[in-house]
Amino acid sequence: MNAKIMEAAKLYIDRQNRTVHPDGKFDNASRWYPSDSERCGCCDAVRSPSRAWPYSYMIHCRTAKHIANLYSVSETELKREARRTLAEAQIATVELIAA
Ligand SMILES: [Zn+2]
Repeated sequence: MNAKIMEAAKLYIDRQNRTVHPDGKFDNASRWYPSDSERCGCCDAVRSPSRAWPYSYMIHCRTAKHIANLYSVSETELKREARRTLAEAQIATVELIAA
């Protein structure tokens, strides 16, 4: 398993857990926009944020599709690695409790 996919999977998990946030800014109407380095081709298909729906990009930037594009890895492999990482973490926790 290469380092890039592991890094991408870690970021995906952290963003899903809301412990890490995508890079971007809120405007004065509290709508969130990704920074230039965060923005990918996939973001073009996302509906622009509105006052009623201010987090459309924020939600998209936490998805496997976006993070796979950000790291230029396959979305399928990213999800597989994320599942593997989570399963491994669970085993580690069980071992710690048992110890
Ligand atoms: Zn995107």
